[in-house]
Parts: sequence; structure tokens; C-alpha cells
Amino acid sequence: MKTINDFNFEDKKALIRVDFNVPLNDEFQVTDDTRIQSAKSTIIKVLEDGGSCVLMSHLGRPKGVEEKYSLKHIVDKVSEVIGVQVKFVEDCVGAVVEEVVANLKSGEILLLENLRFHPEEKAGDINFAEQLSKLGDIYVNDAFGTAHRAHASTAVIAQFFPEHKCFGNLLAKEIESIDKVLNNSEKPVTAILGGAKVSSKIDVIENIIEKVDHIIIGGGMAFTFAKALGGSIGNSLVEDDKLQLALDILEKAKANNTEIHLPVDSVIADNFANDANTQIVNTSEIPDGWMGLDAGPKTSEKFAEVVAKSKTILWNGPLGVFEMENFAKGTIALGDAIAEATKNGAFSLVGGGDSVAAVKQFGFADKVSYVSTGGGAMLESLEGKTLPGIEAILK
Ligand code: AMP
Repeated sequence: MKTINDFNFEDKKALIRVDFNVPLNDEFQVTDDTRIQSAKSTIIKVLEDGGSCVLMSHLGRPKGVEEKYSLKHIVDKVSEVIGVQVKFVEDCVGAVVEEVVANLKSGEILLLENLRFHPEEKAGDINFAEQLSKLGDIYVNDAFGTAHRAHASTAVIAQFFPEHKCFGNLLAKEIESIDKVLNNSEKPVTAILGGAKVSSKIDVIENIIEKVDHIIIGGGMAFTFAKALGGSIGNSLVEDDKLQLALDILEKAKANNTEIHLPVDSVIADNFANDANTQIVNTSEIPDGWMGLDAGPKTSEKFAEVVAKSKTILWNGPLGVFEMENFAKGTIALGDAIAEATKNGAFSLVGGGDSVAAVKQFGFADKVSYVSTGGGAMLESLEGKTLPGIEAILK
């Protein structure tokens, strides 16, 4: 696996695909600069070698050129984070851009305009990729968030750099973390899967079932399992067309000696609202008119015991409706248990959309080993799929 550390960038222009798809407020200010911070070490390595950086990214989902999605809005924030005044050019391909790049000196950084202002980016157009490829000597992919897309700048472009392409530090770290959980893991390995639906996690379960020792299933998806096992789940979230699938998963786990842990008690509510009436009952005995919205205390204790004896932990998906304060306890208790296990030497990886939001919201982000920056890309990696952006560099 070639990374930026295999190259010396002295007098070279690094064409870096970053993921600067950051949230902006109404005044076009960056409200969360995590993604910019994540690209910092790659950019600094190039500058310290004596090279220059041409940064390319998308922002949002523009339909053609839309001013509100211009990357000019983030120039000041990128400059502040990196500590170098970043230059900006109002397009990402063409003669003007090529001239600006030709004049870029060592130590300088140029940010190109939003790649998605050109529909050719998402279409994976090879001519567009070739035009982009003229803007650097070495292609660096550091955008995990788009690594599952075969776009011009994330995958197609790599063929124009047969010997001069590599992963940035962030993407290398993401690949390493997933590998550490799925392939080179210290046992016992525990995967915690929560969130809303079984259907969105089924491919993940299928892929990991033979690789891990324990699977903890929580959140809304646990009720499909509870119902499949004959429990009464009241008005809890359920996918009735997945009941047989749930039983098949339990069977398959048994055959592989993988232990599946399901909630034993739940916090139930008479309404999907933070101020609903609540009670704690066995997960298999939820009365009609009530729905399970969080893990109960016995469940949290049971899950914490499994986590405590694990050496490798993967967490994807919250254990309850954590967006509402009264149904966040199960998710927080799990976060505490993972933080404790990590302190005791376990490797913990948190990834995929809402669990990342949860660890940030509840202050666990620096108490776990690694928080992934990719939602869809992380899920597809866990499903065992080869990501086009990664494959293009390895080829
Ligand atoms: P996912 O995107 O599949 O990881 O699902 C995350 C969402 O699942 C979050 O917005 C949670 O509020 C929701 N969720 C977790 N537990 C439950 C539950 N018991 N009932 C309904 N939604 C839930």
C-alpha cells in the first residue's frame, strides 16, 4: 500500500483529493471543520518536503454551478486550520486553472472550485479526469468519505498516474482501522450494530458474522429479532418482511460460534416524543400502544460485560433514539463501556453516520481508538466491498 510517506514531494505538485464537504451556516461559515482538520497532516507532509498542494473537493450536491456551493466560502477556514494562506481558483479544469497551477511555488496551497460544478465529475468522465490529472505530479487520495464512489477525481483519475499515486494519511488510517477490526484483529472481537433498520445493516452482518466473536444488536433493529423470536413488541419499529432473515442470522451465528446478544429490557414510550410517558419492561413483553425507544438498564449492563472482555470493538449505530435526551441512556452507557475498554487496551473503531454523531455529541470521540470520517464508505467497507477509490490506488 503506497502512502505519501513513500514519496518525497520536493519541488513536486501534489494533486490531493480531499473531502471538504463541510457543513456551512446561512452566512456560509464552516460550522464543523473536522474534515479539514483530518486532511491537515497530509497537506503539511507535502509542504514540509518542499512541495506544493493542489486541493480538489466537492461540496454538497450542486446542479451545475451554484454559488452557495462554491468552495470559496471555505478558503479562510482552510487557511486558518493549515496555517498557510490558501489560494483559490474559480474552476477546477481548463487553461486558466492550468496557468495558476504552473505558477504555484513550493510551500503554496491552491484550492480548486467545487468539482461537482461539472457533471462529468460524478459521471466518472475519463476526459474530465485527464484534464484534472494535468494539475499535479503526484495524485494523492485522502477522501475516505467519497472512496466508495467511482467519480472522476476519486478513482478514474488514478490511471493517469501509474507510478505516482498514493493514499494520504487519513485514507491510510481508515484502511488500517478497518483491517485491524476485520482481518488483523486481536480476539475477542465484538461488533455492535444499532440504528433503525435490519435491512440497512444486513450486508454488514453477513460479512462480519464469520469474523467476529460477538455481535451486539440494539436500537430499532433489535425489535425485528425480538418479534421473530416470538416476543410481543407493541408498536416498536419492525420490519415484518425480515423476520425469517433475523432467524436465519441467529442460526448462522450459532453455526459459526458467534454469540449474538440482544436487548433483554427496553425503555418504552407511549409516543415517539421526548416527553412521552415511559416505563421499563422486558423487550419481549411490550404492551400494545407502547414502543421501545432505548435499551433498558439490564441490557446496558449485559452489553457492558461483553464490551469489557473484548480486545477489538466495532460500533455502528446508536442503541436508542439518542437524539431525544430521555432515550439516550443506552447509547451513552455503551459509549462509556467502549471508552473504558479502550482505556484498558482494546482497539475501538466507531463508524457510519449516526454513531459518529452520537460519540461526538456525548464527548466520546477522543476516548475511542478511531472515529471514521466516512458514512457510506465505512458501511460498504464493512460489507466487504472493494471501494473504487481505494482499488484505483492499489492497481
Ligand atoms: P441508522 O442510520 O440505521 O444507523 O439509524 C440511526 C437512527 O436510528 C437514529 O436516528 C436513531 O434515532 C434511530 N433509532 C435507534 N433506536 C431506535 C428505536 N428503538 N426506535 C426507532 N428509531 C431508533
